[in-house]
Formats: sequence, C-alpha cells, structure tokens
Amino acid sequence: MQVGLVYDDIFLRHRPGDYHPERPERLVKIRERLAQEDLAPRVSWLAPRKATKEEILWNHSEAHYERIAATAGKPYVQLDPDTATSEDSFEAALYAVGAQFVALDELFRENFSSVFCLVRPPGHHAEYDQAMGFCLFNNAALAAHYALKVLKFSRILLVDWDLHHGNGTQRSFYQHRKVLYFSTHQFPYYPGTGRLEEVGHGEGEGYTVNVPLPAGCGDAEYLAVFEEVLRPVARAFRPELVIVSAGFDPHEDDPLGGMRVTSQGFGALAQVIKEVAEESAEGRLLLTLEGGYSLTGLAESVARVIRVLSGDGKPEIRGEPSAKFREYLEDVKRFFSRYWPLS
Ligand SMILES: [Zn+2]
Repeated sequence: MQVGLVYDDIFLRHRPGDYHPERPERLVKIRERLAQEDLAPRVSWLAPRKATKEEILWNHSEAHYERIAATAGKPYVQLDPDTATSEDSFEAALYAVGAQFVALDELFRENFSSVFCLVRPPGHHAEYDQAMGFCLFNNAALAAHYALKVLKFSRILLVDWDLHHGNGTQRSFYQHRKVLYFSTHQFPYYPGTGRLEEVGHGEGEGYTVNVPLPAGCGDAEYLAVFEEVLRPVARAFRPELVIVSAGFDPHEDDPLGGMRVTSQGFGALAQVIKEVAEESAEGRLLLTLEGGYSLTGLAESVARVIRVLSGDGKPEIRGEPSAKFREYLEDVKRFFSRYWPLS
C-alpha cells in the first residue's frame, strides 16, 4: 500500500527566525529519512497547489487573511509572541492549505487510502481572526471545510495528537456535529484550552472530545486513550473521512514537551486510526504535520507512521499505564459516557 506525501520546497522558505524551534530543518530531516531504502518504495510524492483567498475565508476573517498577506516580501514580521513570518511565509502558508486539498482529492479519487501532508507552517493554533503558536492558517480545519463543502462528506473525525491543544481547530467546529474534534494534549499547558468540560456547544455538544493528559504520559497511556476512548467514540460516530493533526511533540526527546511517546508509540496510534478509518471511511485518512521539534525524534516518528500506513502492522508497545492513570482514564470514560457508548 503506497502512501501519498504532499510536499514542496516552498515549505522550507517559511523562516520564523534563526532560533525558532519550528524551523525548515524539520522537513529536511523528514525528507532525508523517507529517502532511505526501507521507505522510498512505499511513498509517492505529490505537489501541492496554492489555496485561494476564497478558500482561506472558509475558516478565517478577511482581516486575518489581509494581515498575513501583508507580510509577503518582508524579511521579518512578528505576529504574536511566538509567531513570525519571513518574505515567503504567506506563500508557504497558502501552499500548506492547498496541500490538504490535493491530498483530499487523491483520497476521493481512491488513488491512495492515506496521504500525509508534510507542510510548514503548522495550523492547529490558528484562530478565525488570529495567528498564534507558530500557525498562520488552520490547515486541518480548512481540510475539513473542503471535505464538507467540495467533496460533500457529512461526518469527519479530526484527531489531534499534537502535544498542544488545537484551540483554533476546536473553535472552528465547536457548534457543529459534522466534524468531531478529538484531542489528546498535555494539560495544563499552552495554549490553556482543552479542558475535559469543553465538549462543544448547541448541536455540537458532545462532538468535541478533549482528553487532557498529565505530563509524563508515554506509549502505554496514549494507546489506552486511543483504544478505550477514541476507538469506541469513532465506532459510534462512523466517520466518512479521518483527518489527523499529526504533531510529534509528545515525543520523549522533544525539547518543548513533557511527554514520553516513542516513535513506535506514534506508529501504534497511527494503527488505531488506520483501523478506525477502515471500519467506516473506506480507509480514507489524511495526516497533516503540526509540531515536533526533536529533529531525529520527528523524522523517526514520521517514518514509523508511514511504515504502519503502508501495511506493517502495529509496532510492539511495552509497559502498562500506572494504576493512577487507569483511575483517571475511568473518570474520563465515565464523563463521556453521557454522549458516547463508553463503559
Ligand atoms: Zn504542538
């Protein structure tokens, strides 16, 4: 099973600053790893297109679009305390969004069952009217909009396993039931959102599922959450498409995070998601790169995920969640059992 990869060198030309952790080398390292002989035959490289202004406005205000557009050609613009742009960042951000649309078209035409967008800048913190947390436009949210509006899907599962909560993505679909947002994230931590009690609003109530996690969680804890919360929720929701905000900052070597997930752990999470997609969505699975700042940890984790997507099966995971974590997980399941069949 070949995995589609959407990539272009334009993504290297977004430079938020010399000492910024979200740097072009992240993608360089991933590309080097994927060129090695164990992976090169399993992947197929695709070119992104540029998203239009009209498409960006599905998820963002015109004022926000214009603010980002105005950074074009300028060597450095600081947009928030940790988000900055260079000459080509606007262009890169448009292609990062357009990459999602190319990927979705490929899935729709059944050319691939999984496509991974290897893009920068990331997207899940980008709000309707604000760039934040290294993000300019919300790639994953715009992917969901495209799937709803253009491809006419009506149930999309959006899984966000980045270390951080995807505040922007959550906000985009908080009052809707067509997109179920599921997030695991270190908590309390940046950006501060993603409490268990944030469950959606109005007809969207129950369609936001946040599982905040204490620092120190590793493969066994994450996998337990995916098996015991995500899988049954997805089984009941029956998504027609699965989108993953794939951030690799829960990796044990990540300099920004306090989690202990290994590259095999990410592979195991990908296997659960792959099975979820196969069960109701004919396997349709789109992943888009979010965070992940240990260059080696990032490249090895992406490699492991791609091995799983191309049919390697679930990597071996060692260990069991602690008794204390088990207890917490039972509380989480009890909490969501008002919306979903969890017991
Ligand atoms: Zn992150």
